[in-house]
Amino acid sequence: MKMNKAIYIHIPFCAKKCYYCDFTSYVGRDEEINSYLDSLEKEMDLYMDKKEDIYSIFIGGGTPSLLSPDQLDRLFGIIEKKVNLESLCEYTIESNPGTLTRDKLRTMKKHGVNRLSMGLQAVQDKHLKFMGRIHDMDQFVESFEFARQEGLENINVDLIFAFEGQTLEDWKESLEKVVAMNPDHISAYSLIIEEGTTFYRMYQDGRLNDFDEDTYISMYRYTVEKLKDSGYHQYEISNYAKEGCECKHNILYWDCLNYYGFGLGASGFIGDVRYTNTKNMKDYMEDLDNKKKPIEFKEVIASKDRFNEKIILGLRKNEGILLDTVTKYLTDKEENDFMVKVKNYIDKGLLLVDNGRLRLGQEGREVSNSIFVDLMVD
Ligand code: SF4
Repeated sequence: MKMNKAIYIHIPFCAKKCYYCDFTSYVGRDEEINSYLDSLEKEMDLYMDKKEDIYSIFIGGGTPSLLSPDQLDRLFGIIEKKVNLESLCEYTIESNPGTLTRDKLRTMKKHGVNRLSMGLQAVQDKHLKFMGRIHDMDQFVESFEFARQEGLENINVDLIFAFEGQTLEDWKESLEKVVAMNPDHISAYSLIIEEGTTFYRMYQDGRLNDFDEDTYISMYRYTVEKLKDSGYHQYEISNYAKEGCECKHNILYWDCLNYYGFGLGASGFIGDVRYTNTKNMKDYMEDLDNKKKPIEFKEVIASKDRFNEKIILGLRKNEGILLDTVTKYLTDKEENDFMVKVKNYIDKGLLLVDNGRLRLGQEGREVSNSIFVDLMVD
């Protein structure tokens, strides 16, 4: 069965830059939001000349909930000109506490949004401040309750662990308090210090240190167990859901299926071409004024790239990948080398094979990045 494409829409505006964040987002440029929405509409026009059936939509950022109710209304209106809403199986918008109001939630709900993703990151206010977040825990609780009261039934909460100053006890407290609120999905990512961030500068100046590896492993193991005991099954390295609440949009990415990417710095994957838009707002808007797609980079994904993507993305899922569907991209020699490595990891218990599916074992998940790098072909 041919699956409909998905849509990712990037909203690159934030109230404040979090210290760990390397996403494309601007602070203090809210006056550009209306013209940005004009550009988004032009961009969608260039790709979609009529209404299409779409599998899922994910509006991410940035902080989409920074838009006013009127701006959200406008954004949803633009989408509705291009998408048959009844074809959607999931419609997600990202949000941050401190920017969510009842009016905005009502607007989202009115336009068919059926999944709200909320950035919390930690429950201790001192840690939220350390990360440069704009909100405290009380604001998160209030926003979460508003969302439930306004009928958002599928809510994800994003958390971060393994950052300087966080103890295992702190992390346990974060999970405990979040689970008590009963969200439908929890994402728990360990902190990565990315170049260009405030944390990166602090790291280079010696004001931030590498996180202790043993504590990280203890935190990760605790997460898997605690969430399992609380009714959330792990379906990907960093994602946990109640039955039936797995993020369909993310699964589509991990399965390397097609999606449009609209907005500043957004990436899309159509046919066998992957493209990334410019991250320069002026160029983005000018290109669209000139009816030109604002693409900065595009490449045809060759066989070996498809293999590598399937390894990096597919193996993230707990169900793993069908071996046949990846080895078809390899030459005989590459396949032999790959299978030797796989057997080696199986012997160590880091990879498992059953019914022709290759997947990470629990200990393999803890060192997944090094396994991915080793299995990829040049
Ligand atoms: S709110 Fe999200 S996108 Fe904005 S700066 Fe913080 S982490 Fe980055």
